Amino acid sequence: METIVLNKLDPNFKYEIAAQPGAERFKLCFSCGTCTATCPVAEIDENYNPRRIIRQALLGMRHQVLSSRSIWLCAQCYACSVRCPQGVNFRDIISVLRHMAVKEGYVPPETVKDIEEIDVLSQRIRHELIRYYFEQRDKFEQLKQFIEAELGVR
Ligand code: SF4
Ligand code: SF4
Repeated sequence: METIVLNKLDPNFKYEIAAQPGAERFKLCFSCGTCTATCPVAEIDENYNPRRIIRQALLGMRHQVLSSRSIWLCAQCYACSVRCPQGVNFRDIISVLRHMAVKEGYVPPETVKDIEEIDVLSQRIRHELIRYYFEQRDKFEQLKQFIEAELGVR
């Protein structure tokens, strides 16, 4: 369970986030968990939890949120934003948090570019896997098994 140190909370954090374009409805989150239940990243990583990130940000846990690797795991797919009953745009809030993390020195500026390159590479791998699935099934099976073995997933 996470420990909340009251005198380390930043009461201004939530206002700074909500002042950024795309994050205007951030404070309306009522912690229903629909975002986490919808998220394709949460589906494969039980430690990734959009609802928890928002809760921590609302509480003012600035350091914990901005230093967390979690804010870089979001695949920016908008599924959570579309389904949120409060109209909270978590996808854009993640962008705001990433820019804050860079601005406040939690990660070097190159991180944003590196993550964008990883996103392009992920799409390329997906594209090629689907192409092989239809055009060269044996190559698809080989690649799939190789990737699964390298990643330790099945
Ligand atoms: S779906 Fe919306 S209201 Fe529910 S926890 Fe996520 S951001 Fe908050
Ligand atoms: S935008 Fe990010 S947090 Fe939201 S569902 Fe997609 S991957 Fe998950």
